[in-house]
Amino acid sequence: MVTQPRALIIGGSVGGLFAASLLRAAGWDVTVFERASEDLAGRGAAIGVTEELFEVLRRIGVRLDTSAGVVVRSIIALDRAGRITHDVPRRPVTDAWARIYRPLKQALPSQHFRATTTLARIEQDADSVTAIFADGSRAEGELLIGADGIHSTVRRQLAPQTQPQYAGYVCWRGIVAESELAEGERALILDHLTFCFAPREMMVCVPIPREDEARTGPQRCCYVWYRPVEFETELPALCTDASGRCHGVTIAPTLIRREVIDDLKADAARLFPPAIAGLVARVDRPLVQAMFDLESSQMVFGRVALLGDAAFVARPHVIAGVTKAALDAQGLADALASCGGDLNAALARYERERRAFGSSIVAHARYLGAHLQSQASGEPPPAPRPELILRDYGAPHLLRDPVPANRMSA
Ligand SMILES: Cc1cc2nc3c(=O)[nH]c(=O)nc-3n(C[C@H](O)[C@H](O)[C@H](O)COP(=O)(O)OP(=O)(O)OC[C@H]3O[C@@H](n4cnc5c(N)ncnc54)[C@H](O)[C@@H]3O)c2cc1C
Repeated sequence: MVTQPRALIIGGSVGGLFAASLLRAAGWDVTVFERASEDLAGRGAAIGVTEELFEVLRRIGVRLDTSAGVVVRSIIALDRAGRITHDVPRRPVTDAWARIYRPLKQALPSQHFRATTTLARIEQDADSVTAIFADGSRAEGELLIGADGIHSTVRRQLAPQTQPQYAGYVCWRGIVAESELAEGERALILDHLTFCFAPREMMVCVPIPREDEARTGPQRCCYVWYRPVEFETELPALCTDASGRCHGVTIAPTLIRREVIDDLKADAARLFPPAIAGLVARVDRPLVQAMFDLESSQMVFGRVALLGDAAFVARPHVIAGVTKAALDAQGLADALASCGGDLNAALARYERERRAFGSSIVAHARYLGAHLQSQASGEPPPAPRPELILRDYGAPHLLRDPVPANRMSA
């Protein structure tokens, strides 16, 4: 009997789950090791979905398509008075994170998934790779996939010089149910991807479907508000709770100080039209996340491959982090299948193809967020150009044909 090659997959979010199902279908014995104990379905909110994402899902037997999400009528920009200043006839599709994550998780038989298992370090030689976990246990395989996100333990061990770079701004997010919207606001907010701009500020309102099974159209709106926050003093202050404890570069919604939320709501009323400021006013416990870029110069280290956010993180303006993780996993599975058991050749092909893509998408996200960022030169950031941002938001062109971001800005 031929024994199956074994892959150890670190990280059980979307990237790890895509890799597990695709490698399993290609004849590998896989085990996913995930640090978290809880179900990750509650982790995300709205995500942009693409035909490329659904194609990978179909390969692993998950039948979803864009009809299940919300297709917006167009992408618009509003001025401070609420007038439509730009209307671009593009129709991106949005969905809820949980509706992608749950079927993906269910597609992998539970014996292949180990929760509450934290990788501490890895060892490898010419024949195998070993994962050593925080509880002292070990697992050995022919291949190890680092799908452990932006702060990847795998990457920190193998490429410690590759670090996330703070983009100079944070993202506030909150979800408002349709029933909380005023009658006259519903059509505007739930039918469009709506942008508002102010100096170094960008608000994007994204309609998303209800999470339950009986979906009858857009039922919620997620606001996504990018705001400059200086790294050395303002970010630690933002991430400090009422007891004076600083939580690093992030803070749980329940710990954000009351005055920070009050200021946020007051700023929204000052900067945005009433319908949009009203969204911010209605959410008492928004999420806040600092924005980072991450660009790896190497994705493969011997028998170890990085994938998804562990290798490249593009700011959310590309609306494609989940699709990128899926396409990385697909690229790895296809490279392994096509190289007839030659692991080195397969990993070299994976690295060549996916590194170019990762660099392109990070560059495109930087271009879309350039107006939010202070310049290294001390110059003021460029004024936002809504006509270009609305045209280029997301990354559909990159998913089909990776090109340098500067071609887009022409
Ligand atoms: C504000 C915001 C909005 C976004 N919007 C979108 C969007 O609209 N569309 C979209 O496609 N993407 C979006 N993204 C990006 C998307 O969420 C990520 O790109 C995606 O989750 C990456 O998946 P991943 O599996 O590579 O990493 P992650 O989802 O980060 O998962 C990594 C996993 O590894 C686990 N882990 C970490 N360390 C260890 C360890 N030592 N041992 C074991 N397990 C470990 C973690 O617990 C985690 O479950 C957004 C991101 C942000 C921040």
